[in-house]
Amino acid sequence: MIGSTLRKWKELAANRLRERTAAKGVILMYHRVERPEVDPWALAVTPGHFAEQIALLKKVAQPMSLAALSRAHRQGKIPERAVAITFDDGYADNLYSAKPILEQYETPATVFVTTANTVSQREFWWDEWERICFANEPLPKQLQLEFRGRSRSWELGEAIHRQDAGGMPPWEAPAGTRLALYYSVWQELQQLGVSEREDALDQLKSWAGLDTGARSSHRPMSPDELRVLVAGGGISLGAHTVSHPLLSAHSPRLQKNEIENSKAYLENILGHQLTEFSYPFGGYNKHSVSLVQKAGFNCACSTKEATVWKWSNRFLLPRFTVQDWGEAVFESRLMRWFEH
Ligand SMILES: [Zn+2]
Repeated sequence: MIGSTLRKWKELAANRLRERTAAKGVILMYHRVERPEVDPWALAVTPGHFAEQIALLKKVAQPMSLAALSRAHRQGKIPERAVAITFDDGYADNLYSAKPILEQYETPATVFVTTANTVSQREFWWDEWERICFANEPLPKQLQLEFRGRSRSWELGEAIHRQDAGGMPPWEAPAGTRLALYYSVWQELQQLGVSEREDALDQLKSWAGLDTGARSSHRPMSPDELRVLVAGGGISLGAHTVSHPLLSAHSPRLQKNEIENSKAYLENILGHQLTEFSYPFGGYNKHSVSLVQKAGFNCACSTKEATVWKWSNRFLLPRFTVQDWGEAVFESRLMRWFEH
């Protein structure tokens, strides 16, 4: 009796040890390789730092495509220090700044594209609002927005005058700063449907007295640029919905259209099947996950920070956000992630 309990306990301990030392992969999430003047969400990595990061990956890790990492995960054979690189949204700097560096180091990547912006060539809505909110001119004292049949107003106070974004996350911005105003309005805009949001952005532009022009520095890629991006085979495209909604805030029917139409649009541009998806804002519910699976994707990425290992759900693969770090900081983060 005691012997069999001891045997079971030893088996359990051996299993735990195997799980702790099981090969784990890391998926990195980037957005931009650029040096924007204002970057409230810390989405940008400068081209210099990006080159340092990719050079380091070649030295200390095993960069591979997301498709290869996902395949290895399905087969239960994730190679040691496997790393896959992903970009969300489809900014033009992915082509002009990131691709030459990725090619120089022969490192693959996947770019998840929001297709409506490819068609419209309009800035992403969070960038349009950033341009309005962080304009150099003083803003009117009060802001009133009408949406969904209700009205909400903000007193600007000190935020009338331009202040620095201050290098802190928007949700930590002190009350009365422009960054706090940015985040508060951003939260409202995030919940809206496409036409309601466009209407709200029009109201914001006329409130601030700004024109409607888009900045070339914040441009999304055009269909032709997407074709150039994937030429050479190192970079693959993935779908990131049509209009970048917070999927969990919408009906299954709207989610289905967003997921399937973005896939079909990109497949039409590329002439082959798309197999990877990422959830906008990392947001999903049980419908989103099952709709992505039914749409024919092989895997999907969330924004939960963790390593990929054998028990990871392949339709909720975790990713680590990379920031504008030089080689030394990036290396220490990377080593910490591998041990996650
Ligand atoms: Zn996104």
